[in-house]
Amino acid sequence: MGSVPKPLVAGNWKMNGLRDSLAQIEKVAASEVLAACNVDALICVPATLLHSAAVMTAGTPLRIGAQDCHHQEGGAYTGDISASMIADSLGSHVIVGHSERRMGYREDDASIRSKTVAAHKSGLTAIVCIGETEEERLGDQTLDVLRRQLAGSLPDDVTAENTVIAYEPVWAIGTGRTASIADIAEAHAFIRSELSHRYDDECSLMRLLYGGSVKPSNAAEILRVENVNGALVGGASLVASDFLAICSVY
Ligand code: PGA
Repeated sequence: MGSVPKPLVAGNWKMNGLRDSLAQIEKVAASEVLAACNVDALICVPATLLHSAAVMTAGTPLRIGAQDCHHQEGGAYTGDISASMIADSLGSHVIVGHSERRMGYREDDASIRSKTVAAHKSGLTAIVCIGETEEERLGDQTLDVLRRQLAGSLPDDVTAENTVIAYEPVWAIGTGRTASIADIAEAHAFIRSELSHRYDDECSLMRLLYGGSVKPSNAAEILRVENVNGALVGGASLVASDFLAICSVY
């Protein structure tokens, strides 16, 4: 392996997509554009579409993942799904700690860490999300928040294979606003350096994604920033042509 990780473009459909949306998955999976890119591509669909999407894309370059998991293997947790259920449905990745869950469901770093452990136990790659709120950025607390979230959300067994970090400034998600190139570069360099203190050599190959209003028109500029090894894409991942345009930066 070289010293720069292979990039990953990961879609996050959030609570969007009925069965007819699988046509978008099929288009991405079959696309010659994707086959020609030097990128790993993944779409994290709602749990209801997970198995169908995974079966549909088997043998193609597109991987399918989920958007959250419970930290327990099974039991009396109405409405939740476990990491082993995701693996059993042929998902390969799971997003944990997205700010919409940190805020909407009061998930804290400790619970995100348990979910990451559960994901690893089931053989999934965890995409661990971190990022500051606008208030924290204005209060000059961004790097402190990132340090705290990394320290609290990541377990000790992290490797470059089983974990991806997504830096998503909360105020840039779904708003059409993106962090400045200088701010993205600073945050990603900081995350890489924090990881290197804790995980040593593993960290140079760990993928650090930027997320927050990434779209075809700004992807090239953002994805060329040093230490940005791909993107976590919400809105623009819902339409195959937009998602492919972002992948084709690589
Ligand atoms: P967005 O979402 O691209 O729509 O801003 C990103 C995310 O929430 O992961």
